[in-house]
Amino acid sequence: MSTTVLSPFQVDQKGFYGDFGGAFIPEMLHGNVEELRQRYLGILASESFRNQFNELLHQYVGRPTPLYLAPRLGAHHGTTIYLKREDLCHTGAHKINNALGQLLVARELGKTRIIAETGAGQHGVATATACALLGMECVVYMGARDIQRQAPNVARMRMLGARVEPATSGSQTLKDATNEAIRDWINHPETTHYIIGSAVGPHPYPDMVARLQAIISAEIRQQLDGLPTHIVACVGGGSNAIGAFYHFLDEPEVQLVGVEAAGLGVDSGKTAATLALGTQGVLHASLTKVLQTADGQVVEPHSISAGLDYPGIGPQHAHLEAVKRVHYGGVTDQEALDAARQLSQLEGIIPALETAHALAYLEKMNFRREDRVVINLSGRGDKDLDTYMQHLAL
Ligand SMILES: *Cc1c(COP(=O)(O)O)cnc(C)c1O
Repeated sequence: MSTTVLSPFQVDQKGFYGDFGGAFIPEMLHGNVEELRQRYLGILASESFRNQFNELLHQYVGRPTPLYLAPRLGAHHGTTIYLKREDLCHTGAHKINNALGQLLVARELGKTRIIAETGAGQHGVATATACALLGMECVVYMGARDIQRQAPNVARMRMLGARVEPATSGSQTLKDATNEAIRDWINHPETTHYIIGSAVGPHPYPDMVARLQAIISAEIRQQLDGLPTHIVACVGGGSNAIGAFYHFLDEPEVQLVGVEAAGLGVDSGKTAATLALGTQGVLHASLTKVLQTADGQVVEPHSISAGLDYPGIGPQHAHLEAVKRVHYGGVTDQEALDAARQLSQLEGIIPALETAHALAYLEKMNFRREDRVVINLSGRGDKDLDTYMQHLAL
């Protein structure tokens, strides 16, 4: 894990990435967030944390994940393509890296209780898994509607010993679950740590999550002889992408590409392409780009993939777009479905729908034969089989 480097792409002393970031929190959360802000860098750099985290990543998560040379996918695109196999992590995606890391941080802070909010349930499952492993009490807030729609993940969390608390206000989805989690945190500041599941939220969360997911790019650097020419990753809140980019941000010859969910199309009104369409606003206590109306009402996003269906984006990505270090593009629902089938049949790997967005974007890029392209294969597709059955006539 790298310590603070003076990079124009990293967070500054005040918690900002250029114009984006910060911690726009209610006064009652100040104590919790400030404690985390003062301590997180010291904890992440400590030998005790690093030993425990590395051991868990190795023995439990199954890291390092392979950097797999994908011959048939490469031949299709006329270049060399590697897949960074985060789908092979325990629980099937990169989210476990962050959940375990934050749980260890929480333990160092003396916390005994973990709360989280989840939309589709993937972050809830990763958190419940980490809590079971480390013997911590776990409460996951989830919109009552999402509990209905995501029954298998609710069952997983309960099986793992977590309490799933329905949020019954408003639209009964992620936003309402977040409000409930924040209320809980305000009421239990001494005992409880709040685990955020992506590189979003108030400072220091985006930086902490990025540092925990940076294991992905640290491994890519070790596994590849020399630098790749491109790294491509899907972007919901942005945690798998920033993890894959992290150790290449200061290598200008490496082209970094983030892929958003365009839903039915960027101009369709049913989209989650935040960087393409969003404007500056505060979401989840962070100044970033947000899908919102002219008078600041958050617009309900749409993506076929639950993990990309988010009206904001991590502030570091908003900054990386503004300074043109990363190129961001969009992929529609249908393009992602087609790419999921294509990878399955070319390489025998069924990707998550989120990941399929990154794969679909390859069709929109031009490669030279000598390029070396890394795709961050953020997760596996088991959870998406119902959607594949429905839309791919399986
Ligand atoms: C949650 C999820 C994502 C999106 O989250 P990020 O924080 O943007 O990485 C992408 N892929 C998979 C498999 C996921 O589960």
